[in-house]
Amino acid sequence: MAAQEENKDSVEALTSGAMAPVWEWVQKKIPSGTRIFDAHAHIGVDVDGRAMTAEGMRARMEAAGVEKTIVFPLNDPNARDDYSGPNDVVWSAYEDHPGLFVPFFRLNPHMNYEAEFERCVQRGFKGLKLHPVSQKFELDDKRVVRLLGMAAEADLPVLIHTGFGMQRVVEPLLPTVEAHPELRLILGHSAMVEVLSAVRAFEGHPNVLFETSVVRLKDLYVLFSSFSPERICYGSDIPYGDLPSTLHATLAAAWAAGLGEKDISGVLSGNIRRWFS
Ligand SMILES: [Zn+2]
Repeated sequence: MAAQEENKDSVEALTSGAMAPVWEWVQKKIPSGTRIFDAHAHIGVDVDGRAMTAEGMRARMEAAGVEKTIVFPLNDPNARDDYSGPNDVVWSAYEDHPGLFVPFFRLNPHMNYEAEFERCVQRGFKGLKLHPVSQKFELDDKRVVRLLGMAAEADLPVLIHTGFGMQRVVEPLLPTVEAHPELRLILGHSAMVEVLSAVRAFEGHPNVLFETSVVRLKDLYVLFSSFSPERICYGSDIPYGDLPSTLHATLAAAWAAGLGEKDISGVLSGNIRRWFS
């Protein structure tokens, strides 16, 4: 019952009342035939008290017309050192809804991560999530560089938080990207602390995508105005973001920057989808 109430709140409140015209605008601006693919969302619980269930995610996706979502753990208070508990929660969400979710696992680079990395790859996880702020590491830490090399070797996409709380993204990350041009990377929150220098640095690296969740509108506009639209993918960051407002921000910035329907459809769906089909 509580879960139903919570779902009702988040989906209905954000698409009705004062928000109804905004949601109507969003619906009109989604190019027809676009099967929305959300590249950034969480399932589980966080030390800050946030939580999201597989069922809550499914209900949100259905209400907003999202077809597929990449899901991974939060900064889980019950994480054993190797993150295996929270990773199992994500895996069982995937087993319950294999058509809806693309499961990524999470690791803490400070811990011995080899066994959990191997276990998750063997199990069939489709990617890895790393959070430099929550797990307190720099992107040029040698354990992180090694882990990214392992992901490149396993042909495993990696989503890295490059948003709130980050100081450095480009300078510590670029050498690893240059060393592993085949590594598929999603920059969660589009390196929003330094969007323009990230655009310049990663322009020539087609396997690096920029993901749009909870980025300020002006930074999204800079991104859409200065970068190739095939390199940008939509994300919600549920439960920190929500589908209606992140779709609104992404669409508003993309249309303002003059993208056409085909490019916008790529941002909402095709650009990330081609990695997982
Ligand atoms: Zn997130």
